[in-house]
Amino acid sequence: MLNLQNKVVIITGGTRGIGLEITRTFYENNAKVIIFGSKKETVDKAIEELQKEGKDIKGYYPNLNDYEEINNIVKEIYNENGHIDILINNAGISANKKIEDTSSEDFVKIMDINVNAMFNVSKAVVPYMKNNNGGVILNTSSMVSIYGQPSGIGYPTSKFAVNGFTKSLARELAPFNIRVNAVAPGITKTDMIESLPKEMINTLVDSIPLGRMGKPKDIANAFLFLASDMASYISGVVLQVDGLARN
Ligand code: NAD
Repeated sequence: MLNLQNKVVIITGGTRGIGLEITRTFYENNAKVIIFGSKKETVDKAIEELQKEGKDIKGYYPNLNDYEEINNIVKEIYNENGHIDILINNAGISANKKIEDTSSEDFVKIMDINVNAMFNVSKAVVPYMKNNNGGVILNTSSMVSIYGQPSGIGYPTSKFAVNGFTKSLARELAPFNIRVNAVAPGITKTDMIESLPKEMINTLVDSIPLGRMGKPKDIANAFLFLASDMASYISGVVLQVDGLARN
């Protein structure tokens, strides 16, 4: 166990998949976890599921592209707790259409959720982290941010942007003792993968030297390490957690 006692953590996209597992893992390591989801029903469902496991989690469903709405909720969280220590920008959507079939609306939507939302929530928490002389911001990137992807151009583009944001914000915030890192998962068993063609998944899994698809827990553990004091001298990295995936 890596102890996150008294740490207040906001996790976007905490309602299912990787984000839900990060929520569990951080809670089990004594953090106070607050999730942001896309709508009331999914947030309520996740909270109920976690309650059955004995975990007491609070949730919100702000429009992640509305900075003012996010800022008001972040202020409320700060006023309730007196500090915000860790932000995990994990909400994301994927794409797999060919460029000719991708509309400019499709492209903008993916950038809105995978990039602009990360900017909005980070911008809202940074003043509070500065005020508390430190904090940790972690972003969910992807292995496609290293290798690219042969379809769904908006998705790898957004994840290259996540890496650029991570490395640059790490430099900007290091003087304030705020560390910024990303985790780049390989193919991981969640709803996001369920929507991909089976042949595509099988080919990808066959090419993984560690011989299996990632589990949400594999990814959540990397987030836990980077959020903890064990990683106190690590900032600006994109940690690949992908079983040694090549593409
Ligand atoms: P998922 O589809 O199971 O979960 C996505 C999460 O993002 C959900 O909690 C959802 O509510 C949230 N979300 C989506 N749109 C949103 C919106 N408009 N507003 C607020 N929240 C929104 O997928 P996942 O696999 O758990 O993905 C989590 C992250 O991991 C994403 O950033 C994804 O790009 C990344 N990732 C996943 C894989 C994989 O193989 N599953 C690989 C690499 C990276």
